[in-house]
Amino acid sequence: MQKIEHIGIAVKDFSVSIPLFEKLLNTNCYKTETVESEHVNTAFFQKGETKIELLESNSHEGVIAKFIEKRGEGIHHIAFDVADIDAEMKRLQEEGFTLLNTTPKQGADNKLVCFLHPKNTNGVLIELCQERK
Ligand code: ZN
Repeated sequence: MQKIEHIGIAVKDFSVSIPLFEKLLNTNCYKTETVESEHVNTAFFQKGETKIELLESNSHEGVIAKFIEKRGEGIHHIAFDVADIDAEMKRLQEEGFTLLNTTPKQGADNKLVCFLHPKNTNGVLIELCQERK
């Protein structure tokens, strides 16, 4: 793992939260993208080295809809940048962490991603992400 790649924040409604974060960070959202497999819309902000990903559900069955139902809006995951996602997944599995997918998935913003189950990480959902080459 290298640095934090981004922080993911679950929100109910982009029409409210995108302008809110644009005001908060004093910068425009630079990209929105839908990840159909996860029923989620994403919106990205970059401020210096820091990247924020807003997540909005586009279906009642989506993981973000379920998360907000249970816990409300707020921080959903922390994503770490990894150079070799396969090697890092293998290492973490050997250390006893539970991977939520066994092979890297296509994520938003041109990334390969894998999530770790929060039961082994003190309740924090962790995402590994590797830039696709
Ligand atoms: Zn993410």
